[in-house]
Amino acid sequence: MTTPYKHEPFTDFSLEENRVAFEKALENVQEIMGKEYPLVINGERITTEAKIVSYNPANKEEVVGKVSKATQEHAEMAIQAADEAFKEWRYWNPEERANILFRAAAIIRRKKHDFSALLVKEAGKPWNEADADTAEAIDFLEYYGRQMTELAKGKPVNSREGESNKYIYTPTGVTVVIPPWNFLFAIMAGTTVAPIVTGNTVVLKPASATPVIAARFVEVLEEAGLPKGVVNFVPGSGAEVGDYLVDHPKTSIITFTGSREVGTRIFERAAKVQPGQMHLKRVIAEMGGKDTVVVDNDCDIELAAQSIFASAFGFAGQKCSAGSRAVVHEDVYDEVLQRVIEITESKVTGNPESADTYMGPVIDQGSFEKIMDYISIGKEEGRLVSGGNGDDSKGYYIEPTIFADLDPNARIMQEEIFGPVVAFAKAKNFDEALEIANNTEYGLTGAIITRNRKHIERAKHEFHVGNLYFNRNCTGAIVGYHPFGGFKMSGTDSKAGGPDYLALHMQAKTISEML
Ligand code: GLU
Repeated sequence: MTTPYKHEPFTDFSLEENRVAFEKALENVQEIMGKEYPLVINGERITTEAKIVSYNPANKEEVVGKVSKATQEHAEMAIQAADEAFKEWRYWNPEERANILFRAAAIIRRKKHDFSALLVKEAGKPWNEADADTAEAIDFLEYYGRQMTELAKGKPVNSREGESNKYIYTPTGVTVVIPPWNFLFAIMAGTTVAPIVTGNTVVLKPASATPVIAARFVEVLEEAGLPKGVVNFVPGSGAEVGDYLVDHPKTSIITFTGSREVGTRIFERAAKVQPGQMHLKRVIAEMGGKDTVVVDNDCDIELAAQSIFASAFGFAGQKCSAGSRAVVHEDVYDEVLQRVIEITESKVTGNPESADTYMGPVIDQGSFEKIMDYISIGKEEGRLVSGGNGDDSKGYYIEPTIFADLDPNARIMQEEIFGPVVAFAKAKNFDEALEIANNTEYGLTGAIITRNRKHIERAKHEFHVGNLYFNRNCTGAIVGYHPFGGFKMSGTDSKAGGPDYLALHMQAKTISEML
């Protein structure tokens, strides 16, 4: 009997003992820096000449790990292995599949800070962001394990006299998992174990910027008792291996989190029925966001400023949920803007390994350049009021940057930057604020800071985002509490960490027997 689900608590780093423990973990992780990791196909370790090298974004010289790089032949082997393993895995008792997830959660929990320290190294996450990422990985394991036990019961349907009807969920097939680098542990783990616990088998192609945590997670799954071939690990390039996996006729599901460009490419390719393909592919895609924090005139100013700040600069704005737009009622605009600047300028940015750092680097050179380009665009489109500088000499550091007085249609109000940049626009009234909030191609998250009950009720219907928050920030969805996924060009609204998520990986079967 499992206990009811409850999310993994965050570590309180104001306590000395926790700080000491985390410092120790950062020392421990030093021992595995530069280590090599093989491909894993059907339980076999394969080491290739070619490698994907993972660097520490805070210190470009430090190699976090070197991961073998798969070719199309390896991708083919991985699909075949997953297809073969599916024949048995699909008939495993769902409870036993769930137990593997619970054991994996226990293994991670025992070395929680060691995993988080690796996230500090591999993605440049500050302590609290790394800790939250590990907690969320544990949450996905615990939550999906329990959800599977529920789903295994099927759903009630009616039976007429003389018949017995049943409605059950059955596994689908080989699932290609392509996770992002920003929630390198949580989303990678969540999108890998959802297909696994539902009886599918997986070919995992980790993000090229963060393959080491994925390699270690595959080890955890093996240690937890996952049979060979159920997860196959094939890091590789998107153009060579990614397309090949997506196009493969034996692929049944593709689960992707990342950019809109890659997501739409996958969606289109998956629609094409290949020779020998026996089914239509399903795509679960979580893509970008251009998320807004709306501030009404009747509000708590300090809460508004803190919410804008946290939404914009958590993990350097590298979240699809990041609040990169603040739309503020003209009555409170100057006051809110001023307070956000003050809060931002009082925080420590820099090396994510030190306890007091609020914001570290961005992920890599490509991101650094893209964000700096957007900062140049912002300087033409709006008024730079804080930050604006970057330094990529040691790591990929960009100051938290605030632009004021933007036209709602400006590029930095419309395009996803995926960096520490927030743009302010002024609204005459709540109607206009809502209109601006909705005027993007995306529809992932949004927040409204207001005391006005009527406005809250209106926004519940008229603010078109998948995750709508009131009087708080628009990031930090918790598994099992805030199912996560977006509308419009943000994706397929698959709601990770929610009650409908696992069913997306399954086929419902109606069974009717005459009595
Ligand atoms: N689930 C995360 C949040 O609520 C964002 C996920 C993402 O950026 O991909 O902040």
